Amino acid sequence: MVIQPKIRGFICTNAHPVGCAAVVSEQIDYIQGLGDLGDGPKKVLVLGCSTGYGLASRITSAFGYGAATLGVCFEKAPTERKTGTAGWYNTAAFHHKAKAADLYAETLNGDAFSAAMKQEVIDKIKADLGQVDLVIYSLAAPRRTDPVTGEVYKSTLKPVGQAYTTKTYDTDKDLVHDVSLEPANDDEIFNTVKVMGGEDWELWLDALSEAGVLAEGCKTTAYTYIGKELTWPIYGQATIGKAKEDLDRAASAINDKLSALSVDAHVSSLKALVTQASSAIPVMPLYISLLYRVMKNEGTHEGCIEQIAGLYKDCLYGSEPTLDEQNRYRMDGKETNDDTQAVIKGLWDQVTQDNFHELSDYAGYHHEFLRLFGFDVAGVDYDADVDPLVNW
Ligand code: NAD
Repeated sequence: MVIQPKIRGFICTNAHPVGCAAVVSEQIDYIQGLGDLGDGPKKVLVLGCSTGYGLASRITSAFGYGAATLGVCFEKAPTERKTGTAGWYNTAAFHHKAKAADLYAETLNGDAFSAAMKQEVIDKIKADLGQVDLVIYSLAAPRRTDPVTGEVYKSTLKPVGQAYTTKTYDTDKDLVHDVSLEPANDDEIFNTVKVMGGEDWELWLDALSEAGVLAEGCKTTAYTYIGKELTWPIYGQATIGKAKEDLDRAASAINDKLSALSVDAHVSSLKALVTQASSAIPVMPLYISLLYRVMKNEGTHEGCIEQIAGLYKDCLYGSEPTLDEQNRYRMDGKETNDDTQAVIKGLWDQVTQDNFHELSDYAGYHHEFLRLFGFDVAGVDYDADVDPLVNW
C-alpha cells in the first residue's frame, strides 16, 4: 500500500508505519544522546503511552533510565485495507527497539477508564514486574464511561462564565477568522471534569495500592496545561481548565490516602505542543503557530521528548524540583514567562489572514502535525509500497 496523508479537519485519518517508527527512533536517539541521567525509575506504568507526552515519558523511562515499561493506550490495529493509528505504529516501533535493547515492554490496548483494564494491568504487574515505582497519567480523551454507573460523559471545550470572541486559525480552510464561543452550562462543566479531571487518576492509584502493586515511595504524575492570558479564556479558565484544576485536588487526595506507602503525587505543567489532543482545541493552532515562531527565535523551542526529559531530570528525580504554590512541577516557564508572552501577544494583535504565514511558524506547526502521523519525515519514501500490517 502507498500511504499518503488523508487529512480531515483537524485530524489525519491514516498513519505511516515507517514514518512513525522513524519519529520514535529520533526520540530514542535524543534521550540516549543525553548520556547518564542518574537515578530514575525502574518499573513504570504509563497510562496513555502511545503518542504525545505519554510516549515521550515511556521513551524517557526506558531509554533514559533502563526502566521496564508497561503501557496502556487506545489504538486501532491496521487491516489489509486501512492503516493502523499512529499510536499503534509508535507502540510497535517502541516494542521493537525495547526488545533489541533487552528492555521489558508490554502494552495493553483498551479503555483505561474501565475497571476491567485496571484489573488487567494489576494482573500483568503481578505476573511480570511485582510492583511499579512510577505511574504516569497522560490520557487525553473526549469521553469517558463511568466504570460504576456505565454513564458516558463527554467533554466540551467552552469558556466558563461568559461568551468569548477571539481569533482562531482554521487549518482546514487556511483561514484566520473570529470565533465566538458560548459559555458552558453547569452540566457541560461537570461532564468535562468527569472526563479529564482527577477522578480516574485517583481510581487507578486506589486500585494499584489495594492490589499491593505500588512500590513504597512510588511516584505518580498527571499532565496539565496552564498557559497564560491568551489561552486562559479557552483553556486555563474554561471547561478543560476546570477539569485540570480537579487534578490538583486529586494529587492531594492521593498523597493523603497513600501516605503510609509514601506515594508522591504531583501534577506537572507542560508547554503547549502540537499533539493529536491539542490540534482539536479551537485557538490552539493559531497560538501554537505563533508560540513556535517566538520560541524558535528565542532558541527555547522544545518538543515532547525535551520537555519530559527535563521533567524527569529536574523534577521527578531532581534534588531541588521547582514547585508552584499548588505543589505542581512546572516545565512551562520558557513559554509562560512575561517577556515571551508579550512578544506572542504583539504578534497575536497584528495577525490577519494576509500576514498569518509571514508572522507565524505555521509551516513548523504543519510539519509537526504531519509527523504525528509519520508523514513529512526526512528519509522516508512516501511513494514506496509498504505493508500496513505491523504487529507488536
Ligand atoms: P495525545 O492525544 O497525544 O495522547 C493521548 C494518549 O491517551 C494516547 O496514548 C491514547 O491512546 C490514550 N488514550 C486516549 N483515550 C484512552 C482510553 N480511553 N484508554 C486508554 N488510553 C487512551 O495527547 P497529549 O497531548 O500527549 O496529552 C497527554 C496529556 O498531556 C493530557 O493530559 C494533556 O492535557 C496534557 N498536556 C498536553 C499539552 C499539549 O499541548 N499537547 C500541554 C500540556 C499538557
